[in-house]
Amino acid sequence: MDDEIVKRLQRFQQRYFPRLRSQYRSLVEDGQHPSVLFIGCSDSRVVPYLMLDSGPGELFIVRNVGNFVPPFDASLGYHGTAAAVEFAVLNLNISEIIVCGHSHCGAVRALYVDPPAEARHMAKWLELGRDAVLPVTLSEEALRRTEQRSVALQLERLMGYPMVRRRMEEGRLCLRGWHYLIAEGKVLVLDVESGLFAPFDAGLHRPGDKDDPLAGVDLLQ
Ligand SMILES: [Zn+2]
Repeated sequence: MDDEIVKRLQRFQQRYFPRLRSQYRSLVEDGQHPSVLFIGCSDSRVVPYLMLDSGPGELFIVRNVGNFVPPFDASLGYHGTAAAVEFAVLNLNISEIIVCGHSHCGAVRALYVDPPAEARHMAKWLELGRDAVLPVTLSEEALRRTEQRSVALQLERLMGYPMVRRRMEEGRLCLRGWHYLIAEGKVLVLDVESGLFAPFDAGLHRPGDKDDPLAGVDLLQ
């Protein structure tokens, strides 16, 4: 194993784990009870635990290229992200789902540039962001807006999952759309009224809201 990786493992075991030992033991004995499902991009610059100041047991995370959500199509393929959504909602009873896109996303950029011919799975997977693409010349501004439109698109798909829709209607689950700006360390939040992303405290809605503003709203504006 790479020396650097070994050193990192040793640092965890010698420096960090002892401080967390009792917490880990409780999480094993009592099980995990996270309240948040975080759907994020695999990008190495997106670090959910840092962003949300969280530790063991606090976030249930699924990451993939582009933070995409496949449709609930009941085709029973190898849909890891769909399985994670089902597990989080039905087994863990999470109360919030965050779909977190980010600036400078390689998956979103790849929507505008054909992937290598050998990357057949990537080409197929990128179809999940295709509807977010803008008919404009590629620019940084267009990429930021496409990243945001893609988050809205994934939220729309999430609402096609029967267990997600049902729990939203019951006021037990809320969805959030985020756009993380890597260089600034800021999160912009989807405002469901305008379809725009605004600084952090706008666009939030919680379980129990009388009328969930996401229901019936065309997010992809
Ligand atoms: Zn990305």
